[in-house]
Amino acid sequence: MALVNTKKMFEMAYKNGYAIGAFNVNNMEMTQGIVEAVAQEKSPLILQVSRGARKYAGISYLRAIIDTAVTENPDIPIVMHLDHGDTFETCKQFVDDGFTSVMIDASSKPFEENIKITKQVVEYAHDHGVVVEAELGQLGGIEEDVVGVEDIRKHLADPAQVEEFVAKSGCDSLAVACGTSHGAYKFKSEPKLAFDIIQEIAERLPGFPLVMHGSSSVPREFIDLINKYGGNMPNAMGVPEEAVGKAAKMAICKVNIDTDLRLAVTAKIRQVCVEKPSEFDPRKFLGPGREAIKEMVRHKLHVLGCAGKAAECA
Ligand SMILES: [Zn+2]
Repeated sequence: MALVNTKKMFEMAYKNGYAIGAFNVNNMEMTQGIVEAVAQEKSPLILQVSRGARKYAGISYLRAIIDTAVTENPDIPIVMHLDHGDTFETCKQFVDDGFTSVMIDASSKPFEENIKITKQVVEYAHDHGVVVEAELGQLGGIEEDVVGVEDIRKHLADPAQVEEFVAKSGCDSLAVACGTSHGAYKFKSEPKLAFDIIQEIAERLPGFPLVMHGSSSVPREFIDLINKYGGNMPNAMGVPEEAVGKAAKMAICKVNIDTDLRLAVTAKIRQVCVEKPSEFDPRKFLGPGREAIKEMVRHKLHVLGCAGKAAECA
């Protein structure tokens, strides 16, 4: 199977009450860990690349790694997605590079300008068989090029605006601010996701797929390992997995996971560094890191409900 776009995946995810995991990739080991997990769990997959990843690894290396994953897993539908594209030019570049899905994030712009930029990306992308994710409202937290927001509740998506935005921009899916937040230090207390907003959007736009960013759960086991082996991450807190699972059964069809990947690999590398101080072979660090990612992703696919769904999304 060649690379696919998200159309069929989102159609099935919406209809059957699950969400597709969208995992950020920066290098070979992280990609392999993710892909081994979805192959084992027979799950559809969205691999996403940020502008930071492109800057770090270079697009040729990333494409070659993703292409290899696609070739080696003919039964797994895989989407290659740009995460947080900031301008029409960035999105165009990724479309021209063969990505099957792009995100235009003009959410920091005024409403009408966001519509205008998104529409421009939609027209170019659709001409090339590529789908577009847009963003409305402000997601809080720490992520490269994403503005932090102090009081998240004040910045949640307005369902009436969402309806107007989708109609006018023609986007294929939409990231909505529903109480999640980017990064590992999201909240001071356990967050409450705005399920009422997700539900109201679903009633206004039946069948329209929504996307949840900042949805890492920041598992306690990783934070404990990191802190045990010389790290310093006090007060890290994520979105409870039960809440993510509940949203996945609703109109949320794509759930972004980045922080949890970073935590899994960092925890494992720290552990090996401390337990085997004479070790100097990078494979002895990165190999266990890859394995930790695989196990974390396998678990996450069950939380999202997309395990075993590769065939119906193909
Ligand atoms: Zn994001």
